[in-house]
Amino acid sequence: MRYLFFVLTLWLPLSLHAEEKLNVVTSFSILADLAQQVGGDRIELTNLVDADADAHVYEPSPDDAKALLRADLIVANGLGFEPWLERLLASSEPAGKRINASAGVVPLMLEEDGEQVPDPHAWQSLTNAEIYVRNITKALVQLDPDHREGYEARRDAYLARLHALLKRADAQIASLPSSQRKVVTSHDAFGYLGQAWQLEFIAPQGLSTHDEPSAAEVAALIRQLRSEGVRAVFVENIRDPRLIEQIAEEAGATVGGTLYSDALASEGPASTYLGMFEHNLDTLMAALKR
Ligand code: ZN
Repeated sequence: MRYLFFVLTLWLPLSLHAEEKLNVVTSFSILADLAQQVGGDRIELTNLVDADADAHVYEPSPDDAKALLRADLIVANGLGFEPWLERLLASSEPAGKRINASAGVVPLMLEEDGEQVPDPHAWQSLTNAEIYVRNITKALVQLDPDHREGYEARRDAYLARLHALLKRADAQIASLPSSQRKVVTSHDAFGYLGQAWQLEFIAPQGLSTHDEPSAAEVAALIRQLRSEGVRAVFVENIRDPRLIEQIAEEAGATVGGTLYSDALASEGPASTYLGMFEHNLDTLMAALKR
């Protein structure tokens, strides 16, 4: 009996430990989906900026700070996308491991207020999303090496789907003539997509959504759309659509639908990263082929 008790006390904490999940915190919905795809049932996920919400202007809550303190792993985008998270991490100094999912991406540099800054929206290229998935997998395996096989199997299954979508995007966009490759969106969120497939994205707002464009900037954009005959104009899920609707009307264009820029959809096909990318691709193609 004494022996049995001894065995039980040894066994119980060990078995609890084996069932313990990693607490993972992601800064916004796209990273949440990627982390969940790779983490599967081995992680307990807390995401900070919701689907359909704008991470550029996010104000963290006390609950967010608590979640960060509990985290084994904190996954941010990096490239200056989450200044609010950097401030929060600097003040609370959580003990968990931190990674930038975009580490290793070649940043697209743009001029913003006279300064060269990296474009943070690297997830809009599927090739970059593969780097994100590999970085997240590596961090999960480092923290939970006993379950390496599971993480790597989920990573590989996911990347197979990503590569299939990449192939389809390559083929579809290659069929567009060079005169039908101009697109208007609310803010500069699609630079990496444009770079990957030679599409030109034009936006009344810059890299962030902080500053509203001036009346003169909007008027200049409308003139440009008229003179170049741009027909593909889109609203974004994270932005008020009224400015884009006004621009489209004054330029004699129609709004071609909604593009998901900095957040997944709360529900429906665009509520996963691959679903979001597919939705954006189909929406863009339908408008550009008109
Ligand atoms: Zn953005």
